Amino acid sequence: MDVSDPPRAASTAMSISSLLTHCAGCESALIQIEACRAVTPESVVVTRHCPECGHDDELDLPVAVAELLLLRAADFTAGLLDLAERLALADELWVYDPL
Ligand SMILES: [Zn+2]
Repeated sequence: MDVSDPPRAASTAMSISSLLTHCAGCESALIQIEACRAVTPESVVVTRHCPECGHDDELDLPVAVAELLLLRAADFTAGLLDLAERLALADELWVYDPL
């Protein structure tokens, strides 16, 4: 696996699994897959963009890992859309501040 241009990955000691699911620049979980292209029958390059800090990277991954990332991204997106719909339909919103 090759993680291209991880600006803070070396200094923050993010785990490999965290690098797959979070931005290497700001550690946001909102990093988005923009494209996937087959490099060989066994590997795929996944192009990602972080909407929070603007970081772009490419991951050279085995096909099975890329497929899992795409499934995770689809589930994450569905969850965000569901939350957005629930917030839009709420009669009122309460924000709990434990402090
Ligand atoms: Zn980021």
